[in-house]
Amino acid sequence: MIAYPVGQSGQTIFLADSVIAHFRRHRQRRKRQKEAGGQLFARIEGSNIIVFEATGPRRKDMRTRTSYAPHRPSEQREIQERHRHNLHFVGDWHTHPELIPSPSHTDARNIAECVKRSKHELNAFLLVVVGSAEPPDGIQVSICDGESSDILKPSNDKAREPADSSENSRKRRSNTRK
Ligand SMILES: [Zn+2]
Repeated sequence: MIAYPVGQSGQTIFLADSVIAHFRRHRQRRKRQKEAGGQLFARIEGSNIIVFEATGPRRKDMRTRTSYAPHRPSEQREIQERHRHNLHFVGDWHTHPELIPSPSHTDARNIAECVKRSKHELNAFLLVVVGSAEPPDGIQVSICDGESSDILKPSNDKAREPADSSENSRKRRSNTRK
């Protein structure tokens, strides 16, 4: 897991190992690889937002080397299906054909769109851009609260990991952490 404290809010965003693995698989490391992307789904446990699933890319998405346009009906279907399982839509991700992602012009527009889309439990919208460098350097996480957006920095502070109820998930985490 990688933890991203959200400013002074007391909230922390966590990216599960499976989500990081999904990002790594779709990195644009070769010349002909197209941008990939999808949606982010999280469980919300108090002040911890744990992103457990990254969807996409899907067959009907429009993808080029330098652009990614998701298939909107597929997005809607994903949100409905996962909501039944208590997984909440919290944002989007996509790749960039560069080592360390810098927010592009299009991404600024996506962030503006978040004003409409941030009306869920998190009350904010996450945008993850995945470059080809190894995580966490190659992963840029920004959060938009409907007005402004901030880039989040990963934390090394173990104390901020979910003090969670479930002993199993604690074991799973410590087993998979390197
Ligand atoms: Zn982009």
